[in-house]
Amino acid sequence: MTTRHAPAVHRIVILGAGYAGMAAAVQLGARVGRRTGVEVTLVNARRRFTERLRLHLTATRQYVAELDIPELLGGTGVRFVRGWVTAVDADTHRVRIDDHRTLEYDTLVYGLGSVADTGAVPGADEHAYTLSGVDDAVALAGRLARLGSGTVVVAGSGLTGVESAAEIAEQYPGLRVLLLGRDAPGATMRPRAAAYLRAALTRLGVEVRSGVTMAKVLPDAVELADGSTVDADVVLWAGGTRVPPLAAAAGLAVDGHDRIVTDATLRSVSHDDVYAVGDAAAVRQPYGTMHGTCQGGMPTGVHAALSVVRTLDGRRPKAFRFGYYHTPVSVGRHDGVVQFTHPDGTPRHLVLTGRLAARYKEAVTASPWSTYRRMRAMPGTGAIWPRGGRFTRRGAR
Ligand SMILES: Cc1cc2nc3c(=O)[nH]c(=O)nc-3n(C[C@H](O)[C@H](O)[C@H](O)COP(=O)(O)OP(=O)(O)OC[C@H]3O[C@@H](n4cnc5c(N)ncnc54)[C@H](O)[C@@H]3O)c2cc1C
Repeated sequence: MTTRHAPAVHRIVILGAGYAGMAAAVQLGARVGRRTGVEVTLVNARRRFTERLRLHLTATRQYVAELDIPELLGGTGVRFVRGWVTAVDADTHRVRIDDHRTLEYDTLVYGLGSVADTGAVPGADEHAYTLSGVDDAVALAGRLARLGSGTVVVAGSGLTGVESAAEIAEQYPGLRVLLLGRDAPGATMRPRAAAYLRAALTRLGVEVRSGVTMAKVLPDAVELADGSTVDADVVLWAGGTRVPPLAAAAGLAVDGHDRIVTDATLRSVSHDDVYAVGDAAAVRQPYGTMHGTCQGGMPTGVHAALSVVRTLDGRRPKAFRFGYYHTPVSVGRHDGVVQFTHPDGTPRHLVLTGRLAARYKEAVTASPWSTYRRMRAMPGTGAIWPRGGRFTRRGAR
């Protein structure tokens, strides 16, 4: 057994500057970034912040983010390292970057997010486009712009599939856009909201085929489980997300989806110097394990940072509590549906539709960067989010 001596400087390394990792970095920067004896480092593949919520807009040539991460962190004392994390050694507390650089940590905040699950069916990896990152969205944008006419199949009728199909149909009315999936669009919404969503997609010319299971992606078609094929010039794979196996390979305890299993304070249950945030974390609440959203991801980043600070100060970290409050969906640039929800994600009666819903969604999508700026100056404002009331009290179902 080896004994670790407390180092003179406590090195906090945050992996991933997505919605959750950025929230953690800004909070830690604002609270301890310039404290003597503390060093905070943020590692990310790109210098620019990837607004994943807008990647379907990037894919239709409507938007490319120009948000500079080191610029936002200016003055906080957080060091930014641009690079690709290739491995984490959770026993020796080392992170390998681009295969040749190594960073050592005393506390790790893991927020490397998720990607489109192209492993779900054969051929998706080779033949389908995704919205996993900016480069993938830009590649799709180039293909759509060159296409002129033909069929685009959006494979997967979850909210990413719905929003993407709508954007493509609105921007390229000459293309046939087909949305395929097991569930009807808006399946988790109230019938009124789902009906509005369906009608809005139809108005844009999106053809919807529900109740189908995709079995394979071919170079020019999608094969369904019943053996039939749907011809496609372009396939966008929106059939769910997966977490890359880096955390599992590091020996951290993960769930069946390779997400790091955390305790109530967002600390890894297997390694108490590792915190997990965002899509890469399996965060339990009394109503179940949280699903990957920006809505819940940013609070996990803030809370993990607060847990780290409390631990540094010799205080006990608090339990994380979160309740969902909305599911906002855009349908092109001028239409949308907002389904308000109970804290466990089930739909309430309250629904917003039309232009107002589109404006609501845009305001939500634009808010993270201004939230980070505000948190940098007033970190306490970042700790305001719905705690879920009776749905998340200990002992709740
Ligand atoms: C088109 C689309 C629309 C969406 N709309 C919504 C919505 O309306 N509302 C909502 O709540 N959620 C939405 N989501 C889901 C939301 O984007 C994710 O839940 C959210 O991005 C998760 O945040 P995160 O910080 O965990 O990960 P991410 O935002 O994915 O960030 C991970 C970061 O880590 C970096 N990274 C990953 N691997 C490495 C590596 N090995 N080395 C270095 N850097 C690495 C990435 O480049 C990225 O910067 C949408 C997703 C998509 C694709």
